Amino acid sequence: MDTAFPLRFYSSASDASQTAAPSRRNRLESAGLWLRRHRRHIALMQWGVVVFYGALVVLPALLPLPSGDARLWNNLRLFAQFVFWGLWWPGVMLATIGLGRVWCGLFCPEGFLSELASRHGRGKTAPVWLKWHYWPFIAFVTTTIYGQLISVYQYAEAALLILGGSTLVAVLVGFLYGHDKRVWCRYLCPASGVFAVLAKIAPLHYKVDRAAWDNAGAEQPFNCPPLVDVRRMSSASDCHACARCAGQRDAVRLASRSPFVEILRLDIPARATDAYTLIFGVMGIATAAFQWTISPWFLNMKMTLATWLVEHEHYTLLDADAPPWWLLTHYPQVNDAFSWLDGALVLTYLLGGGVLLGALLLIAPHLAARLMRHPRLDWKRFALTLTPMGAASVILGLTMTTATQLRGEHLLLNGLPYLRVTLLGAGGIASLWLAFALIRQAGNVNRLRRIGAWCAMILPVALMTGLWGLAFFVW
Ligand code: SF4
Repeated sequence: MDTAFPLRFYSSASDASQTAAPSRRNRLESAGLWLRRHRRHIALMQWGVVVFYGALVVLPALLPLPSGDARLWNNLRLFAQFVFWGLWWPGVMLATIGLGRVWCGLFCPEGFLSELASRHGRGKTAPVWLKWHYWPFIAFVTTTIYGQLISVYQYAEAALLILGGSTLVAVLVGFLYGHDKRVWCRYLCPASGVFAVLAKIAPLHYKVDRAAWDNAGAEQPFNCPPLVDVRRMSSASDCHACARCAGQRDAVRLASRSPFVEILRLDIPARATDAYTLIFGVMGIATAAFQWTISPWFLNMKMTLATWLVEHEHYTLLDADAPPWWLLTHYPQVNDAFSWLDGALVLTYLLGGGVLLGALLLIAPHLAARLMRHPRLDWKRFALTLTPMGAASVILGLTMTTATQLRGEHLLLNGLPYLRVTLLGAGGIASLWLAFALIRQAGNVNRLRRIGAWCAMILPVALMTGLWGLAFFVW
């Protein structure tokens, strides 16, 4: 079988910005160069973010729980809760989808502090075990589940434990490893894997002209903190969009691109880590984490087991006084305390339900790849066509918290169902279009097989649409 696809639509040459002469810089390219020239201003801004972030993580945890009539504009705990989970977290995801990993490169206080610690630390070489590609995925799953067990979206103590703890480890890793680098961000950060997936569909990226790089004269010193091999960089996944390489060797520039090009260009590797993070992390376990509180399946499971335990006089698992707050949610003063049974069920629902959902979602990419029978159209490439659907899903899930908080302030959100349907529809259509465009490139594969492969890819989109439809309009 001929493996040479006619990459007429998605070759690197299709990006119009590539042909621009260095002397005719467009605004984006100039913006990248401006950012590189203004490192000191960016550092100052990052210090500002550190102070703001530190205050919002630490101070609310020192205050008492809000009273019933407290509002987010007169209570620091509620205000911090809204800023972190209602605005910041969805905003960071949206920024990554729209602009690439600018949060990581220009704003993130954790990455900034880790790099600072690395500048003045031990400077050791990161050990091989620390560079295992799946640490960010494991860390994401662990923090997502742990966050739900201790109700990180609701309580400042839990936010301090998870966010503050993560920052301390980031600083420690920075102090130990690398010099002026972000070893933590590259190899360990729990959000890094998710950002790497979402950045694939960002319409902005730092574009490298390999020929210009190779033909450039003397080397100019520059530092890429997340240790990207800039010369060979073809994906926006690992780039933190910090602009420190903008203009390097007259070969790197901030440029626009089609948000689909990175998934459709077959010369850009489709990594298994990204595919698993998308399928099991972003779409599997994260969806279960967003939905368990409103799921009648969870409630039925809990009622059935609790009834059985009472009938058989096993009360230990129903004890909500024993678990400490850092293990399971424990705020009896506001009637919010998890029993051991609650904890076990949340763990089971998130891990079991998330893995089951991921496994179901994964069937279609494998099926499509088998039908296409082409070495360059493997299951990972098909799995990545679900990135827009995954992006829509994570935004829908995160903004559930925003909507709950705004409703608590008696704000009417009449347009919300339309927004949700639009976002879900856009994600689904974009994913199906990506699958179609991918299959279309293999013009030499039997027509029936191509139709079968595309039909297979409808299944995961329909499954996610159905789950969110249940959550928003049925449950
Ligand atoms: S490749 Fe490295 S230096 Fe260049 S923008 Fe990305 S993170 Fe910054």
